[in-house]
Amino acid sequence: MTNILVTGGAGYIGSHACKALKGAGYTPIAYDSLITGWEDAVKFGPFEKGELGDRARLDEVFAKYSPAAVMHFAALSQVGEAMQEPGRYWRGNVCASLTLIEATVDAGCRNFVFSSTCATYGDHDNVVLDENTPQMPLNAYGASKRAIEDILHDFKAAHGLQSVIFRYFNVAGADPEAEVGEFHRPETHLIPLMLDAIDGKRDALTVFGTDYDTPDGTCIRDYVHVCDLVDAHVLGLKWLEDDKGSRVFNLGTGSGFSVREVIDYGRTITKREVPYTIGPRRAGDCTKLVSGSTLAETELGWQPKRSKMDIMIQDAWRWHQNGSYDK
Ligand code: UDP
Repeated sequence: MTNILVTGGAGYIGSHACKALKGAGYTPIAYDSLITGWEDAVKFGPFEKGELGDRARLDEVFAKYSPAAVMHFAALSQVGEAMQEPGRYWRGNVCASLTLIEATVDAGCRNFVFSSTCATYGDHDNVVLDENTPQMPLNAYGASKRAIEDILHDFKAAHGLQSVIFRYFNVAGADPEAEVGEFHRPETHLIPLMLDAIDGKRDALTVFGTDYDTPDGTCIRDYVHVCDLVDAHVLGLKWLEDDKGSRVFNLGTGSGFSVREVIDYGRTITKREVPYTIGPRRAGDCTKLVSGSTLAETELGWQPKRSKMDIMIQDAWRWHQNGSYDK
């Protein structure tokens, strides 16, 4: 079986990717520091504990498994934190990823799948966000991901490292079999925070700003189901295996939902009230991030199956009620 090194394999998206990889016949090697990941989330292949920036540890793992490709999920990914501690994002995302990329090339591995983000685009009024939209990130999270994209570009030219870069929109939902799911401590994302508020695990959700230039005044995002997202990664891996070369793909659905619309869905799906209060804007938030590209569908053959808001909240709610890693 072909080994794939999955950094962040004990995290939310990485653990779902490991399940999808195993389902597609690969052996996922989960490499994770467990700073934000959970060892209980590693269920589909071997686990190797290690820091992203630890070159000696990475070299050991590359030597042990000779992976055919790297899927790089491990990252700091909170907009609010990035605004307050940009140095952590530059060091933890950019410097550590550079170490990983150098270790990949030096180990003779030439295929790399990278988790980038729509946050690299920043705010573009009334512009359709496709892969050619200029990248003007508003926060250090987006800026750090854009910098890693630049590193991959340079390493392709110099060392022949082929990469598929996915710019994710907002990832939501959970494995419908609830084997893995979203579990951050602390939690900062809208849907899990809303579910916490619904079942009384926190007092109320705070809506970050109602004075944006959108129909209901709250920010708009394009939500994509985590299972569809990781399916695209398996297709990206096959793309690299077929020597189709480096490419960038947006992963979004093209449909935008405001924070208030997500809350309405939460109420409908769970049949419970959503306690929420209105707060100020969160620094670094873009007004609207919605994908305007179908390149992943036309080029990769990606077919999102569960990326409907009702299904995403239903799957997240099932996981929320039945799954966790620290019980
Ligand atoms: N949001 C909110 N309250 C929260 C968390 C998020 O109103 O407690 C909003 C946030 O301003 C953004 C959207 O929900 O417009 C999605 O935020 P999230 O942190 O889930 O993802 P991001 O867009 O930052 O990647």
